[in-house]
Amino acid sequence: MGVAFLVFACAACGAPAQADPALVMSVPARWNGTEYVADPAASREPLCERCARQLKARFERDGLPIPAVVREPGYFARAYHGAADEQDL
Ligand SMILES: [Zn+2]
Repeated sequence: MGVAFLVFACAACGAPAQADPALVMSVPARWNGTEYVADPAASREPLCERCARQLKARFERDGLPIPAVVREPGYFARAYHGAADEQDL
């Protein structure tokens, strides 16, 4: 499949990661010269799978709205491992 993966440093932990840019979970953050810090006014920066899973768990615990695409079965496989669901095409 021709999904071009985005390679980035996670906005939360700084780990190198890659994901589908159309599906990757992101948070408003800015680079302070050393690391990304949360900033509601900043542009959205992508998260690695580990941090995205933690964020989703926190949203579930706090009852915050989770984007529909993230709630779909197989989201993490598709977003972070390129397991494209060809039935969607
Ligand atoms: Zn991370």
